[in-house]
Amino acid sequence: MRQIAIYGKGGIGKSTTTQNTVAALATLGKKVMIVGCDPKADSTRLILGVKSQVTVMDTVREIGESNVKLDKVMFTGFGGVRCVESGGPEPGVGCAGRGVITAINLLEELGAFTEDLDFVFYDVLGDVVCGGFAMPIREGKANEIYIVASGEMMALYAANNICRGILKFAETSGVRLGGIICNSRRVENEKELLEAFCKRLGTQLIKFIPRDNIVQKAEINRKTVIEYDPESNQAKEYLDLAKRIIENDMFVIPKPMPMDELEKLIEEYGLAD
Ligand code: ADP
Ligand code: MG
Repeated sequence: MRQIAIYGKGGIGKSTTTQNTVAALATLGKKVMIVGCDPKADSTRLILGVKSQVTVMDTVREIGESNVKLDKVMFTGFGGVRCVESGGPEPGVGCAGRGVITAINLLEELGAFTEDLDFVFYDVLGDVVCGGFAMPIREGKANEIYIVASGEMMALYAANNICRGILKFAETSGVRLGGIICNSRRVENEKELLEAFCKRLGTQLIKFIPRDNIVQKAEINRKTVIEYDPESNQAKEYLDLAKRIIENDMFVIPKPMPMDELEKLIEEYGLAD
């Protein structure tokens, strides 16, 4: 079982990319579970085709941790993909990352990580690897990471920061970076910039995903593109990413860039104004 965490700036496309890639993996015959680690609890809606999913934290609050059974928090969607949302604390109360810790520990106790699973994907909130949100990598639950980024400056800053986090935990937990996924924002020279960025970090650009409105069309129908229009070009791009992840053998401890060098790199590709 490979356990993979997806990190990246908020809104960059982690949940969309994760669900489409997982749907593609399912069509390739892989058994997959998604653990949504974002209080927004929107990591599995395209796989389940629902508006909002019951979360682990809500269920724990409602019936108490000791009464939670697996079938109350884990649901099966497209392609047999198993879906869990950690959820979060009530707004304004407590640490959001706490939900991730509670959820993953509970899933382990309840035996959710069965041997037949080929992949577990953790879709983790935000651009800082702190507190509960670092848990999947800090405690060696997920030892393989992909960062979703784009050619936009803030997305690159976030990706670089996440690499700092990976570096910090790499020795103790064994976590490694498997690559960067560019989810295109149609920035000029985007692919070249991302390739140069990856090279500096010592990793690879595992995939360039084009921006395409079909993603939104599928989303309105609460579906991945893989389910909505499997013959579309975008579906083929996600299938290709799925295959690249299956075949990936490049796992590194990244070398985060000093801030001024990162800024210089971005300028070099003509993005500074
Ligand atoms: P995150 O999980 O990183 O916060 P989301 O996956 O929710 O980000 O993506 C934010 C929005 O971007 C989604 O509503 C989705 O419609 C859109 N999006 C993501 N990837 C693409 C893409 N390749 N092409 C077009 N729209 C996309
Ligand atoms: Mg998300």
